[in-house]
Amino acid sequence: MRITIPHLGNVYLAVKILFDSLGLDYVIPPLNSRDALYLGSKYSPEEICLPFKLMVGNYIAGVENGADTVLLVGSCGPCRFGEYPELQIRIMKQLGYNVDFIVMDPVQSIGLNELFKRIRKVGSASKKSALSKIGSVLLAFTAMRLIDEIEASAHAIAGYETSPGEAKKLLSSCKKEVFSCSDPVKAVNILNRYRDRFKTIPADYSKKPLKIAVMGEIYTVIEPFSNLYIEDILMDMRVSTSRRLTPTWWVKDMLLKTIRLNSRELLKASNEFLPLYIGGHARECIGEAVLAAKQQMDGAIQIFPMGCMPEIVSKSILPSITQKKKLPVLSLVVDEMTGEAGYRTRIEAFLDLLERRREHVFIGC
Ligand code: SF4
Repeated sequence: MRITIPHLGNVYLAVKILFDSLGLDYVIPPLNSRDALYLGSKYSPEEICLPFKLMVGNYIAGVENGADTVLLVGSCGPCRFGEYPELQIRIMKQLGYNVDFIVMDPVQSIGLNELFKRIRKVGSASKKSALSKIGSVLLAFTAMRLIDEIEASAHAIAGYETSPGEAKKLLSSCKKEVFSCSDPVKAVNILNRYRDRFKTIPADYSKKPLKIAVMGEIYTVIEPFSNLYIEDILMDMRVSTSRRLTPTWWVKDMLLKTIRLNSRELLKASNEFLPLYIGGHARECIGEAVLAAKQQMDGAIQIFPMGCMPEIVSKSILPSITQKKKLPVLSLVVDEMTGEAGYRTRIEAFLDLLERRREHVFIGC
């Protein structure tokens, strides 16, 4: 069995650590790019959302590089994500690829027995003992948590750095170093070292950078290619950003969902505007906006793929939050046709607006 995965932000680093630790054979497809998008768009239904197309592009690259199994997480609805695996399996078959799919659907949808059966299918390819396998999973989760922590530090400190660009450079060298290390324990040590290095980046906390919450559809906020590297753009503009939806958050949310204790803070915050689950992470998006206003952030940017049903609903609710909670929000819709220049101009105009709004509040107008 030679496994490949679709990309989702930095998840490939934690997955690599997991597979190296389990001794599994795997192919990490090239990071998302125009090529992956072109390939995925060519073979996907035109009106399907962007994550679907990029995932298909990743599968094709993975299989072309020798993978025979695709490992992915699924959901059984209610938005289009519930249909992803079925459709993608069909597309890969039609393209003539002989590839097996292992879909990790939520336990509430397929039951504990079926979930364990699928986990065993992956685990059986490893010669490690059951105890070592558990150790590998914990090691990978530690890596995922560390990467998320490092990334959050880089995004938060960007507005305060005394030598601008240092956090961005450090983040990029961290990812490269971890990816080129095939010893899983050493890779986690590298992450620990970088986490400590981030604490020593020279910063001037008397600065007053703009603070923005990045929220929206989970794939497009986590996967940098799909959001045209918005967090990098904001770092270059010396803006401090924060994002609650991360791979670590997702894992915890999935686990706690089984006992209905997931994302209490976000869901509670969303109750006033959207008390019902409508699919995707629409409730989380609304909750994030409410919390961003409570934390007196300067604004929020919502990102979602063209045609994303849950986020279209959140978009229609966000103006009420802007009005009631005084939080300016910019909504950005992305698809394969999104032009970089127009996208950047909209972000710059939004930042100008936030700066002017701040001056206005300051002089009491
Ligand atoms: S949340 Fe939106 S983008 Fe994601 S699968 Fe559902 S409809 Fe598509």
